[in-house]
Amino acid sequence: MTTRRDKYSAELGRRSFLGLTGVSAAAFLVGTGALPTAEATGKGRIPGDPFGLGVASGDPRPDGFVAWTRLAPEPLAEDGHGGMPLRQAPVGYEVSEDEAFRTVVHRGNAIATPELGHSIHAEITGLQPGRTYFYRFRTGNEISPVGRTRTAPAPGSSPDALRFTLASCQAWYHGFFTAYQHMANEELDAVFFLGDYIYEYGITKDNLWRNVPLLPAAHTVETETLSQYRLRYSLFKSDPDLQAIHSVAPWILTPDDHEVKNNYAGSNSASTIPPEDFLRRRAVAYRAYYENLPFHSSSLPQGPNMSLYRRFDFGDLAQFNVLDTRQFRRVGPDGIDGDRWHPDRTMLGAEQESWLLDNLSRSKAKWNFMSQQVVMAQIDRTPGEGESFSLEQWDGFPASRDRLISSLVANNVSNPVVLTGDIHRHVAADLTTDFNDPNAPVIGSELVTTSIGSNGDGAPTDSLENIWMSNPHVKLYNAQRGYVSCTLTPDELRADYKVVPYIQQPGAPLQHLTSFSIQDGRPGLRQITAEAQS
Ligand code: FE
Ligand code: CA
Repeated sequence: MTTRRDKYSAELGRRSFLGLTGVSAAAFLVGTGALPTAEATGKGRIPGDPFGLGVASGDPRPDGFVAWTRLAPEPLAEDGHGGMPLRQAPVGYEVSEDEAFRTVVHRGNAIATPELGHSIHAEITGLQPGRTYFYRFRTGNEISPVGRTRTAPAPGSSPDALRFTLASCQAWYHGFFTAYQHMANEELDAVFFLGDYIYEYGITKDNLWRNVPLLPAAHTVETETLSQYRLRYSLFKSDPDLQAIHSVAPWILTPDDHEVKNNYAGSNSASTIPPEDFLRRRAVAYRAYYENLPFHSSSLPQGPNMSLYRRFDFGDLAQFNVLDTRQFRRVGPDGIDGDRWHPDRTMLGAEQESWLLDNLSRSKAKWNFMSQQVVMAQIDRTPGEGESFSLEQWDGFPASRDRLISSLVANNVSNPVVLTGDIHRHVAADLTTDFNDPNAPVIGSELVTTSIGSNGDGAPTDSLENIWMSNPHVKLYNAQRGYVSCTLTPDELRADYKVVPYIQQPGAPLQHLTSFSIQDGRPGLRQITAEAQS
């Protein structure tokens, strides 16, 4: 897999882009409209390698995917424009069945505009379902690294297996993305990213735990403007391990709070910023988020609004409902920390909630996933007598949770599984009809992946383990960095929890923490012991 270009592959790539596939340069240009050559763009030529932020693919469908890149010859230019001149730049792209681009099946052109940070979101269609493709971009004489991706299986088909990973919370400044370096070695149908792709906080000597030199002043302030959010994405995306994992599998993303601001709920900034000012900030934050990730144009932000909840089907094996628990979250008049049962409180908003319950109740898929941000299982933070809850998670919206769980039961939804990030801990929990009754029926499970970067090295345990494990439906708690690797078949979901022992220095090995199995039609997590794995 080519993740970083060398001179040889760039040369080979350029020739085959234009000629080796049997399509001449002239035919390519004529056939696809007016694609200027480097000569034609003349002295406005882009200085240096414009593909310094790599390539990515996302939103896989049976007939295609979104191919992404962003021209940025100087990714850390402090105005957020990545060193690009403030004019349009033409970009060609092609999709091939083989890595050497001998079997090109799709070609197109797009224009990178300064208004969208010189990003390209090429919507590829007309492909075959359930197979691997390669893609790359060209601007002027420069060819991008090659990306590998997969289309989703055909509608109605019955795939034997699906392999995917869960990732979240990549605070670049807290450590290296070593977990991604290992993840990139896996053969994956998709990566589910569950929120906190960036963090808005200023990066100073106090939180820069990644062993790198201090950053220039532009990075030391909290992101508020479009330029600042863009620069923050450039910084995080300059990580080679992040670029590597983007280049080997399609991503299906949803944001959490830190793509905008800590703990926000709808137009409530969870701070003293008034709603109208906060919505202006949310608008630029969503725009930079869109620019930097492989979203379909149906998610292009309109002011402060971005369509993020969406559904992905993998034949009749799995349905994934990607949720947005931030944009439509509402609290009561008594605020975020007010009465958690207040009737105004909602986690999803009425429209998204009915969309979700409708998808689930009609689903013919054997496995039904909710890919989302914050912990759904009830977690009582007061062991023994008394109870207390984090109102930032579904515990702050128990009526929303009750409606969802009641609907799963009433509609006999097949094998519901919730995929979660946010807490920077590996957790596995069962979902029951009544979390206060240890004998209540288990109706599904929740897999919570720890952070890729946030919180630095971590340790196998910490002072919160006792609190979490005192909730009887919680089966795992670990405070290291890593990810979860899932293998889904019609009979079983197997979740392998993986960790890296440190991240503040590079080079940590990957370790297998533990595995859980969920059997079709038999709700509940079963831990797989070390002996049973060998
Ligand atoms: Fe986080
Ligand atoms: Ca208690």
